[in-house]
Amino acid sequence: MTNFADLTTLRVGGPAAHLINATSEADILAATAERDLLVIGSGSNLLVSDDGYSGTVLKIATSGMKIESDACSGATVTLAAGEEWSSFVEYAVAHDFAGVETLAGIPGLVGAAPIQNIGAYGNEIAKSIARVRTFDRVTSTITTLAAAECAFGYRTSRFKAEPDRWIILEVTLQLRTGSESDPIKYQELADALGINIGDRAPLREVHDAVLDLRKSKGMVLDPGDRDTWSAGSFFMNPIVESVTSASLPEAAPKWQTSAGVKVSAAWLIEQTGFAKGDRLGGAGISGKHSLALINAENGSAVDLVALANRIRISVHEKFAIWLEPEVRLIGLALK
Ligand SMILES: Cc1cc2nc3c(=O)[nH]c(=O)nc-3n(C[C@H](O)[C@H](O)[C@H](O)COP(=O)(O)OP(=O)(O)OC[C@H]3O[C@@H](n4cnc5c(N)ncnc54)[C@H](O)[C@@H]3O)c2cc1C
Repeated sequence: MTNFADLTTLRVGGPAAHLINATSEADILAATAERDLLVIGSGSNLLVSDDGYSGTVLKIATSGMKIESDACSGATVTLAAGEEWSSFVEYAVAHDFAGVETLAGIPGLVGAAPIQNIGAYGNEIAKSIARVRTFDRVTSTITTLAAAECAFGYRTSRFKAEPDRWIILEVTLQLRTGSESDPIKYQELADALGINIGDRAPLREVHDAVLDLRKSKGMVLDPGDRDTWSAGSFFMNPIVESVTSASLPEAAPKWQTSAGVKVSAAWLIEQTGFAKGDRLGGAGISGKHSLALINAENGSAVDLVALANRIRISVHEKFAIWLEPEVRLIGLALK
């Protein structure tokens, strides 16, 4: 029997009682009628109960890439859901396809990338998505959604809002061709590249600078580094109303967005007395990033939930803000 400890990057979780490894679209479609279906990719955004999951687990393992490219319209790339995201970014950079270079090193598979609209260093995958081909479990049809129909937002999408409805089969990206990156929007990355915000840099340099920054924060998977036994950022940066934002100390890192004021969750956590390297039971806070909760030493899902609850409650007591998980919890709930 396979355990979720072997299927997720947090390396916790009990048995996957009925596991299907879908290497073809036919395998996926054959599984769609199963009740209590949990679709997973590489488990880098999942925290599953120590009791496991009693329904059917559909692990996406399809492969394939189709490219149409010309000098006028750029590259249109269609990827199977089971392709590895960071390998594709490496391929794009090597072939002068621009637009995803700042998303280098994000773990996971292509099919999961639109679910929470993966993002990093001032960029999100939504910007490059043309369409998403899905199986709609409500209508039992294969349905292609244009990007405008996907309701993409900060770490969210229509797919995340309706987790039992959509199975992503393929993602089509529209990328610019050329060897220069998109304008850099993130100060830390601009500093690492020695350029100004709004400047461009060679794709390879941007890709490598992003990887270096990510490694320094434990945000690139490395089996030998316990600080990467995480699900990335455990909590989202909260988006708060202006009255709440005004009540925060001057020093609080925050950004105005169209949805409200986004506040740094890492800063909020540090202000409540938690620090990198802290431990609670077998769970901990990464020694490299205060937003990454890790399986520090024989950790369990119960340990991780206990630490997440302690952090959430402390932040709420001090700032009246509830941190919401970015990670999907299965068979578990936070207080
Ligand atoms: C070290 C580390 C760093 C990270 N850094 C970032 C970051 O910078 N930015 C960021 O946005 N995320 C980051 N993440 C989170 C994670 O990498 C992404 O959310 C990724 O897209 C998850 O991919 P996955 O294949 O592992 O999906 P899983 O964790 O297996 O699944 C995630 C969700 O997608 C659903 N799902 C998966 N595949 C499909 C499909 N084909 N159809 C329908 N639903 C599906 C699952 O049901 C689940 O709800 C990080 C994670 C780690 C461990």
